[in-house]
Amino acid sequence: MVVAAVCATLMVSLGLAQSATAAPGWPVLGNGSTGSNVAAAQHLLRGHGYDIAADSAFGPATEGAVAAFQQSRGYGADGVIGQETWPGLVITVRQGDSGPAVAAAQSALNKFGYGLAVDGEFGAGTASAVTSYQSSRGLAADGVVGPDTWQNLIGENGGGGSGTYSLPIPRDALSRGYYDVPHHDYAALDLPVGTGTPVYSISSGVANQINNDRCGLGYEVVGDDGATYYYCHFSAHGAGSGIRVDAGTQIGLSGNTGNSTGPHLHVEIAAGGVNRCPGALLGPVYDGSTPPAPGDLPTGGCIE
Ligand SMILES: [Zn+2]
Repeated sequence: MVVAAVCATLMVSLGLAQSATAAPGWPVLGNGSTGSNVAAAQHLLRGHGYDIAADSAFGPATEGAVAAFQQSRGYGADGVIGQETWPGLVITVRQGDSGPAVAAAQSALNKFGYGLAVDGEFGAGTASAVTSYQSSRGLAADGVVGPDTWQNLIGENGGGGSGTYSLPIPRDALSRGYYDVPHHDYAALDLPVGTGTPVYSISSGVANQINNDRCGLGYEVVGDDGATYYYCHFSAHGAGSGIRVDAGTQIGLSGNTGNSTGPHLHVEIAAGGVNRCPGALLGPVYDGSTPPAPGDLPTGGCIE
């Protein structure tokens, strides 16, 4: 199957990159996102004084509240909850507390099957769920929902993989065969996923934002394995620039920005100064087997 898309070769200028602390695992939520993490975020926004409905659907009202919250904190006011916004949005709660932030914690705990009433009252039942959850994750079981517990509750494990590497999209987004589709003109991979699909870093490393005419919104991740990973055509950045990421950290939402004729995620892996076939790494990751080292990936066989 041939994916009709025009992609950019990547000689990008990255602009300023600054060091920051890693915040791996936070999901990226934007207009159109749905689900329990959206509900938790809406409750947390209510906890910061934004009077929006906690209906699990991220629409214009939520987007406006997020942008206002970001502006109040001096973050980039893009209306997307990503790696920068989550750590400021979460509110530490403990037994005896009440209000929207408690409802957010209850909503998040229910992702893990605790079946709590989302009533905003942090009583003994919620405390018991928190300590049980903390124990299950190897966290200090103190019953307090602080930054680490929040990140575990809200965070997601990326696209699946060996631990060293993650798929760049949720594993169930595309079948295995899409990782073997040849790319036009040069070694790369186009994954035909719709706008708003989570994009995860394949490797650990340092992520620098890209924003140019060819790639659109994207990232360059300088991997700890010595390879450089490029991701293009996002609808939204999910993290800052110059931040540390782990394999599976969400770095944005896929889209159709830059030189692209339809929504897809463009991926490149460069090692030893040349582009390599991403599918030769990602196919084994999909299969749960150990992929070759980036420098051993083929440079041909994935080009139309
Ligand atoms: Zn491409």
